[in-house]
Amino acid sequence: MSNEAIIFLGPPGAGKGTQASRLCKERDLVQLSTGDMLRGHVKRETELGKAAKKLMDAGELVSDDVIIGMVRAELEQKEAGQIRMLFDGFPRTIAQAEALGNLLAELEVPLVGVLLLEVAEEELVKRLLKRAQDQGRSDDNEETIRNRMKVYRDQTEPLVDYYQDKGPLKKVDGLGTFDEVYTRLTQALA
Ligand code: AMP
Repeated sequence: MSNEAIIFLGPPGAGKGTQASRLCKERDLVQLSTGDMLRGHVKRETELGKAAKKLMDAGELVSDDVIIGMVRAELEQKEAGQIRMLFDGFPRTIAQAEALGNLLAELEVPLVGVLLLEVAEEELVKRLLKRAQDQGRSDDNEETIRNRMKVYRDQTEPLVDYYQDKGPLKKVDGLGTFDEVYTRLTQALA
């Protein structure tokens, strides 16, 4: 197997995490979720975790430097020629996308696809409020959810044009059953 990278783009609640984990199993990729990495830091009460928690609870983004440093450290641990990654929830800003582009070029990892999962905002809020009940995530309350949507629109949505210009962006309808959406994703990658 050779190097490969896929990016999962889409608003909070679009279903990136669950779809990504199935795609990783079937394509032998490692899922790198910056949100999960940050929640790990919060749980372990590291300095990074303490600083990140306030921002996460408010639905704001953690600084680009911190995020890029975290991702770089993770990728540099991998053996050359065996870097097969799916990025979930990263990049979220143009600066992160630029840094990722440089890192992938340096490590000779081709970006084979950027998958944008599209779901209307009202449906997203509904799903996130349900996740709040099921999982009890501290950033899944309505006020934080609304702010995360705004942050997505302001800071992350510009990546749609960014990757459209660069080529590998595929838009996928995120409404439907898990299997329906998964089939659309694999077709988009084919
Ligand atoms: P997620 O699990 O991807 O929804 O992320 C949860 C929270 O972690 C976000 O609302 C941000 O506060 C923070 N976060 C996760 N990934 C990033 C990122 N790539 N850049 C900045 N902040 C992030």
